[in-house]
Amino acid sequence: MTAVPTACAELTAADLAILDAVDEQALVDDLVGLLQVPSVTGTDAESELQHRQAAALAALGFDVDAWRLDLGELAAHPDFPGTEAPRVEGYGVVGTLGPAGVPALVLQGHVDVVPTGDLDHWLDRDPWSGAIRGSSVHGRGACDMKAGVAANLAVARAMVACGMRLERPLAVHAVVSEEDGGLGAFATMLRGHRGEAAVISEPTSGRIVVANAGALTFAIRVCGRATHGSTKSAGHSAFDAFLPVYAALAGLERERNAHPDALFDGNALPYPVSVGIVHAGDWASSVPDLLVAEGRLGVRLDEPPAAARAALEHTVAAACERDPWLCDHPAEVSWPGGQFASGRLDAAHPLVYEVAGSIAAVDRRGRGPPGRHGGRPLRQRPAALRRPGRHPHPPLRSGRRPPRPRAA
Ligand SMILES: [Zn+2]
Repeated sequence: MTAVPTACAELTAADLAILDAVDEQALVDDLVGLLQVPSVTGTDAESELQHRQAAALAALGFDVDAWRLDLGELAAHPDFPGTEAPRVEGYGVVGTLGPAGVPALVLQGHVDVVPTGDLDHWLDRDPWSGAIRGSSVHGRGACDMKAGVAANLAVARAMVACGMRLERPLAVHAVVSEEDGGLGAFATMLRGHRGEAAVISEPTSGRIVVANAGALTFAIRVCGRATHGSTKSAGHSAFDAFLPVYAALAGLERERNAHPDALFDGNALPYPVSVGIVHAGDWASSVPDLLVAEGRLGVRLDEPPAAARAALEHTVAAACERDPWLCDHPAEVSWPGGQFASGRLDAAHPLVYEVAGSIAAVDRRGRGPPGRHGGRPLRQRPAALRRPGRHPHPPLRSGRRPPRPRAA
């Protein structure tokens, strides 16, 4: 999202020892193993991966806190980020290495993935194969972000393998429910797990991302008047009624993206207003009397989520006032799913320079190519995202066979 200076840093003997201790084969094996578990948000498989991450960290000698999330308590919290997927359980996993105290660095990653979509778009129609073809590993979540989760574990393994004695703790966080609102990271913070700085190994096109837009899931309910299609003029289609609302949303999107922050580095649409689901009608020969549209509203940097919600609600209300049908049958807006704020880290924060310098130094040493870009909200602690990998959530997910982890 933003360019940062590539400060020069010299690799110390300790840095070189850690790099030389990275077990590339174990890293690839971990990634393939992660991909072969279909850890779609909210499923049992997501829990299975959390148990696996806890066991792996414990085997390395990390002090592991693995706990079952109290979903009811989390949902009642005033800052509850919302969820979208059905969920009956979830687990938090935090491993800490080194002396007591607040971790100097947190490496964080989520184990959940989004659903697979059309299987015909997948290699061999199998999103869970973890197949390696050439220099790429294929599978749902290879990019976002099981390669990052595997890289975090590779760092942990290398730290232990080279016998590094830490002056301050290192923590590795594995979280659930990132894809539907961020409940896992929220629960981890509430649990009291903090750090002075965090690197989230999301796919970022190889850039260091220090700011993220937020996103609010909305639902718009539009009523019509049902009648048989043969007597269409006696009714009013909810689908037709939605069209001026949809046009108003497009106007809101233009307005909110008129002057994008320079941090977005040329992205002309950093705050999309996107409708992802539209349900209307229940019979082909009936005029639909109800339409429900669900979508995602981008939250601007430094904008309170309440202000973003108010902007959309005002837009919908104004569109209804202008429309002869909707002024008597106004659309209703609700906010049923994931709700997360925007966030940013001061681009001058020392973490940014340290990560940039380390990347430059490792790249100079020839440890693999830079990658690409994506992101998650950064809140409550200095955090940066960085890992090779392509745009998140295309139908076909593939990640480069992971190079040695380089960030931090
Ligand atoms: Zn992700």
